[in-house]
Amino acid sequence: MIEHFKYHNTNCFFMKSGTNGKLLAIDAGWPCTLYEYYRELKTIGYSHDRIAWAVVTHFHMDHAGLVSAFIDEGITCYVFEHQQESIDAMEKIILKNHKEYRTIDKRRLVSVNAEDSKELFASLGIHGTVIATPGHSPDSISFISDEHEVIIGDLAPVNVILPDDVNNLACWELIRSTGGKQIYPSHAEPFVL
Ligand SMILES: [Zn+2]
Repeated sequence: MIEHFKYHNTNCFFMKSGTNGKLLAIDAGWPCTLYEYYRELKTIGYSHDRIAWAVVTHFHMDHAGLVSAFIDEGITCYVFEHQQESIDAMEKIILKNHKEYRTIDKRRLVSVNAEDSKELFASLGIHGTVIATPGHSPDSISFISDEHEVIIGDLAPVNVILPDDVNNLACWELIRSTGGKQIYPSHAEPFVL
């Protein structure tokens, strides 16, 4: 079951391990807001040390701003292979506004192939998988739980996509074909597909 809280108009999502009760964070908040993020986590009933792992839907500052802080906290941060090259562009933008931001030590990210995600998550007690949905940005992924919940990040809602937008339409086609039902956007309320 997907759980979430919202801060600064952005949803932060979690899946709980069936093995040890630890959390996989799906998306990692805004830069330089770790304590605020932890306070929000408390409001949905978890202390910060419950987070053991993290993935991000894409490397934009409202989704991956805390990755470097998470690494320092001992959280295992996975990066999907096709996301690697989007990190620098995000950090360049962050550093313009946050001089105190510490960049991600890429050697401490754990690189995985999206195709191996189901197996990886299963080993953590997390029942779900990741698929590439490069509609909003080339590095965007969606997380699909075995209960057919889908975290789509910033993928455009299906009802606003124009008929010639083949890239976004293909993403939704893929989500449908994998059985996606309950949709969780990052900046809007959940809806049923
Ligand atoms: Zn966003």
